[in-house]
Amino acid sequence: MAESNDTIFGKIIRREIPADIVYEDDLCLAFRDVQPQAPVHVLMIPKQHIPKLADATSEDHAVLGHLLLKIKQVAEDMGLEKGYRVVINTGEDGGQTVFHLHLHLLGGRALAWPPG
Ligand code: 5GP
Repeated sequence: MAESNDTIFGKIIRREIPADIVYEDDLCLAFRDVQPQAPVHVLMIPKQHIPKLADATSEDHAVLGHLLLKIKQVAEDMGLEKGYRVVINTGEDGGQTVFHLHLHLLGGRALAWPPG
C-alpha cells in the first residue's frame, strides 16, 4: 500500500483490532457495525484505501461495482428477502465519521424515509 491508512477500518483490515467479519475476498471486507442501527447493520469496505466516495475516480470503477455486488450477496446470505438499505455517507455534511469508504447495509426491520 503506497500510503498509510490509520483509520479504524485500516486497522480492521490489518487485524490490528477485532471485528465480527461476515465476508472477505481479495478486494473487500464486510463486518458488523459496532453500534448497529438495525437488526442487521454491516459495513462493506474496499481493502484499497479510498477515503470517501468523493475521492473515487474512474480507475476505481471495478472495485466500486464489486462492493455493490458483494453487499447484495451478503444481504441475500443474511436472509433480507423483504428488502434492505445501502447507504454511503460522504464527507462532513453526509455524516461520514470514518474516512475509509464504506457502504452501510441496514435491514431486518422496516426503515423510515427520509433519513435525518
Ligand atoms: P459513518 O458515520 O462514517 O458513515 O460510519 C462509520 C460507522 O463505523 C459507524 O456506524 C460506527 O458505528 C462504525 N464504527 C466506528 N468504529 C468502529 C469499530 O471500531 N468497529 C466497527 N465494527 N464499527 C465501527
